[in-house]
Amino acid sequence: MTDFVDHWVDGRPWTGSSTRTAPVYDPARGAVQREVRLAGSEDVAGAVASAAAAWPAWRDTSIARRQAVLFAFRELLHARSEELAEILTAEHGKVLADARGEIARGLEVVDFACGFAQLTKGSYSENVSTGIDVYTLRQPLGVVAVISPFNFPAMVPMWFFPIAIAAGNAVVLKPSEKDPSSSLWLARLLQEAGLPDGVFTVVNGDKEAVDALLVHPEVRAVSFVGSTPIARYIYQTAAAHGKRVQALGGAKNHMLVLPDADLDLAADAAVNAGFGSAGERCMAISVVLATDPVADALVDRIAERMASLRVGDGRRGCDMGPLITREHRDRVAGFIDVAAADGARVVVDGRGIPVDGDPGGFWLGPTLVDHVPLTSAVYSEEIFGPVLSVVRVSGYQEGLEIINTGRYGNGTAIFTNDGGAARRFQREVQAGMIGINVPIPVPVSYHSFGGWKASLFGDAKAYGPHGFDFFTQEKAVTARWLDPSHGGIDLGFPQNG
Ligand code: NAD
Repeated sequence: MTDFVDHWVDGRPWTGSSTRTAPVYDPARGAVQREVRLAGSEDVAGAVASAAAAWPAWRDTSIARRQAVLFAFRELLHARSEELAEILTAEHGKVLADARGEIARGLEVVDFACGFAQLTKGSYSENVSTGIDVYTLRQPLGVVAVISPFNFPAMVPMWFFPIAIAAGNAVVLKPSEKDPSSSLWLARLLQEAGLPDGVFTVVNGDKEAVDALLVHPEVRAVSFVGSTPIARYIYQTAAAHGKRVQALGGAKNHMLVLPDADLDLAADAAVNAGFGSAGERCMAISVVLATDPVADALVDRIAERMASLRVGDGRRGCDMGPLITREHRDRVAGFIDVAAADGARVVVDGRGIPVDGDPGGFWLGPTLVDHVPLTSAVYSEEIFGPVLSVVRVSGYQEGLEIINTGRYGNGTAIFTNDGGAARRFQREVQAGMIGINVPIPVPVSYHSFGGWKASLFGDAKAYGPHGFDFFTQEKAVTARWLDPSHGGIDLGFPQNG
């Protein structure tokens, strides 16, 4: 009998009326394990109506009570995170250790949201005019939508919903249809933590569900994470329908290695950031800019480390799991031929390597290509898989110019022991998140996450202070309490004095 992943509406699983479904694979076996329901616009309307009905009571729930729910959710998630890690590995394919890391980073945002009360304090100016005070309030928006990608099925939703809920909104999450089960698991946990039904809703689906959310008049804001073409589309469509939007897109992250860098540290970093989660991370390093004097030594060290990586089923203690689908694996593997045809040197070819897993899994081993020309699609396209490119550069200036002329600006890193060079880099480089001898500079939850250029459409980054601002709107109140000094009639524009 087919196992279906339902929607989660009004605090229980819901089938909706659409009969469309999509397969959910176990990528390490290459087999379909269940079918996910794909909502139509009527299902989305039903889900949003449930969220809209739940919202006023949640908005009016005290800060203390909202905080208590978040603290309870945090405790439950800590205690039961292994269940979630297993779901992530079974549907995404990332190894268990990586799944645990994903949950830990999501939990950091829950921690931040637990302390949100601190951010609710508005400003107050007393006696701005005689007997008049001005103060600001931050209030929730209403129903907000979160649309997430396949590569972090738990962490990316957790970048948004804990803060949105803490701030008093009702959230409708549309997870990736490739690995939807963790969202349902999180919904159940929120309910167990005491969240009232309807405040967190999951609607599964594809473009049809997304489009329905983008135009729905009750949806006040959209937080999106995914590829750049879809992020641009989400930004334009949701904004045209009067919504607040933050749409985080794709990436092509460079790591610039200067001649004075610690090459062992840089080689470790390139391998960890290039092949962790099989390269399916928006903060993965996909291009190493190796300065000429050290390039050969660096490539040797990276290749040496790659030889020890064990590829296989994430439940068997391997270092790297499969890719998300067969089509994606084939697309990524296709770039190896492109690299060779464009004159790059394939140093390590990940095709056909031995794996500790089912032969039907969507495998591709770690791959290293050197001397990649900037004109090659291997350099310019987001590959989103375990293919690490090396581009040779003469020095800092050439490396910086390459990064700054790229169309993405998510993360970037410099490896050097020269503080002056690092400081110049942090000032001059065009990207939103910078690592100095740190390959994956994902900011902690009390800063905010987001890139520049084609990696983020909108004004607000994810989580941290930006997240709280995004999910609230400010109100300025000008108040006069009765005082003997009534001003009398004056039709002029108010002036203070
Ligand atoms: P994707 O853009 O294909 O899908 C993301 C979401 O959009 C999914 O929920 C999907 O159902 C929906 N969607 C897909 N096509 C759509 C369409 N035509 N119209 C409306 N909605 C649509 O991305 P993905 O393959 O799931 O995830 C990988 C991408 O996400 C990579 O490009 C990666 O760089 C990016 N990403 C970015 C960040 C970041 O923080 N900038 C983080 C994680 C992933």
